[in-house]
Amino acid sequence: MPTPDPGLCARCVSGRTVRGARTTFWRCERATTDPGFPRYPTLPVLECRGYEPRDVAIEART
Ligand code: SF4
Repeated sequence: MPTPDPGLCARCVSGRTVRGARTTFWRCERATTDPGFPRYPTLPVLECRGYEPRDVAIEART
């Protein structure tokens, strides 16, 4: 089964991949501290209040 397009999660600092037997899941790390986020978002995520682009977050920390 092909991995679905993750949308924003692929470029978000909170997006993580989890390999399953047949497909790769996307997990939201924000869900561990904020119950308002789904641990496994329905893909593709097209809008999200928690979206934080990876490159912007890296620049802000340097
Ligand atoms: S905060 Fe939103 S965009 Fe980022 S990984 Fe979680 S669900 Fe995806």
